[in-house]
Amino acid sequence: MPRYSEVLAPAGGKVLMLGNVAIARGFLEAGVQFVAAYPGTPSTEVVEALAAAARRLGGRPYVEWSVNEKVALEAALGAAITGVRAVAVMKHVGLNVAADPFFSSAYLGVEGALVVVSADDPWMWSSQNEQDNRWYGLHAYVPVVEPTGPQDAKEAAKLALEYSARYKRPFLLRSTTRISHTRVPVETGAIPVEELEPRGDFSKNPARWTLIPQYARMHRLELLEAWDRLRRELAGFPLNRVEGSGPVAVVAPGLGYRYAREAVKLLGAEDEVTIYAVATPVPLPEPLAEKILSHDMVLVVEEGDPIVEIQLKTMAVEVDARTRILGKRGAQGLLPRHGELGLEKVAAALAKVLGRELPAWTRGERREPGVKLPPRPPVLCAGCPYRSFFYALRRAANKLRLRPVYSGDIGCYSLGILPPFEVQDIIVDMGASIGSGSGMAHTLTGGGRVVVAIIGDSTFYHSGVTALMNAVYNQSPLLVVVLDNHTTAMTGHQPHPGVGVDAEGRAAPEIRVEEVARGIGVEKILVSDAFDIRDSEAKLIEALRYTIETRKPAVVVARGACILVALQQARRRGIKPPTYYVDPEKCTACGICYKAFNCPAIQRGEDGKAVIDPALCTGCAECVQVCPFDAFKPSQEPPEEWTVIMRTAKPA
Ligand code: SF4
Ligand code: SF4
Repeated sequence: MPRYSEVLAPAGGKVLMLGNVAIARGFLEAGVQFVAAYPGTPSTEVVEALAAAARRLGGRPYVEWSVNEKVALEAALGAAITGVRAVAVMKHVGLNVAADPFFSSAYLGVEGALVVVSADDPWMWSSQNEQDNRWYGLHAYVPVVEPTGPQDAKEAAKLALEYSARYKRPFLLRSTTRISHTRVPVETGAIPVEELEPRGDFSKNPARWTLIPQYARMHRLELLEAWDRLRRELAGFPLNRVEGSGPVAVVAPGLGYRYAREAVKLLGAEDEVTIYAVATPVPLPEPLAEKILSHDMVLVVEEGDPIVEIQLKTMAVEVDARTRILGKRGAQGLLPRHGELGLEKVAAALAKVLGRELPAWTRGERREPGVKLPPRPPVLCAGCPYRSFFYALRRAANKLRLRPVYSGDIGCYSLGILPPFEVQDIIVDMGASIGSGSGMAHTLTGGGRVVVAIIGDSTFYHSGVTALMNAVYNQSPLLVVVLDNHTTAMTGHQPHPGVGVDAEGRAAPEIRVEEVARGIGVEKILVSDAFDIRDSEAKLIEALRYTIETRKPAVVVARGACILVALQQARRRGIKPPTYYVDPEKCTACGICYKAFNCPAIQRGEDGKAVIDPALCTGCAECVQVCPFDAFKPSQEPPEEWTVIMRTAKPA
């Protein structure tokens, strides 16, 4: 687990930091007292760094991993109502989950401060969509702050929290993958350690804090008034700045600013362009817009949707400006509306505006790189318990002659979509495996069709619980498989309610999946050892039969530690897991292990017999159960403790 000690580097220096760590540092310098979040790439490190700080500063600020983004935002809002400076962190799609309290927070305002961090993911490096969450700012009347690159991410976070405290309104801090995950030198300021103590107070005032219609109407009017004020005053936000004095305006919110600056340099157009770096894209400050509209030609360079462009065009109509505004919209759009921006795209757009020739490389005439890397398809890790479980699942379905529909979910196990397992037929959003699977279970009948919803433990706590309750209440005939590896593996091994540890590393109550399922009213619950193929297969057969015969939901909890966490724990305890080899005398070259089981440590040798790469083998012993000819052997007797660690390891 990364330590992020740089987040507490002494003031007055320059320290190399990941953009997300710089954001965390900015919050600390602004005196953040309360942090709640649900992990999600590319936002996770903000909270990991704040949790690391809290561990070293004796619980200052208070940091929690909440069960989902809605709860995180509600918790942060509650804290901000008591007068503390609070932050809720999530990835972009997380804000969809938290949209309800987000809108309400705009009406209520805060007593302390509240910043919601949304890390957007243009071109979907690890997400199901590439939504631009600045829309949420416009929609909910929440001002948006956007760093103009990783260089000022720290400052943007600090200012967002300070502005929220000043205006007593929630602010949205929008980052994107490249800002969050780029490492840059950051100038450190002072952290007011004493002020990080999460101490709040509350005075009863129903008119202020309750959104019943009579008060909500009043809040609506106040919100509109505050919005108009912000439209004027955010022009003075310190990260909004103007560079150059050329006749063509390049309006560059967020990361667009870095590309715009490079493009101007590349084209040698410093005298022809004025760059407007916009760190408050929503609402676009009116005084800034007026200046921009004084130019005849404007190019808007923004990551995501044309949000500033639309606001500018609207204002141009309102004030009857004759300015030509180009960006992403309409037939004359010069920049694509999908994917990430890049210097190439921005330089090409600016060259068109300026009527310039571009250097050859920007016209796609690139030199081929000298080294060609082999394509590496994503694959479950060697020793992942999901592999043996999926293998058991396919065998169980075959034995019962079923053609299940696999309702999948978001997590490492989404890789089950790939051959040889192909056990993810739909993937919609966090927790949808049970929700959508439940709907399908009511409509798919006959022909051996049965719905198997596959969800991870963290996702189950996030939003699977309510969907399971719905499935029980509505008697949905589906099998729910909860893959419990005791961690939120995909985002870097954060704890969750089933782990028994909280974000700051303290012992916490352990809430077990099977007990939740029992409490909700599931009548058939089986727990299998995910590393044990026979055990899983038998339990899956029993549960599938139950669901088919009774037309009721059943739950199988497949338990086994994430192999990466298990290996880490073994290393810490000085235990050496065994590696395995193939006995060539026994191997018949049947190919089951490398074709149907597909452990990346097992390869096909030239003679068709299996060969194990000892550097990749994790010693999980799954292959031993797969080979019908007993060809896999441990190079040394597996230590008893290792077989326990594989099943029980949790993130430290
Ligand atoms: S399953 Fe066994 S026999 Fe078949 S290829 Fe693998 S090691 Fe050889
Ligand atoms: S080769 Fe066998 S023991 Fe090694 S990681 Fe693969 S399945 Fe596990």
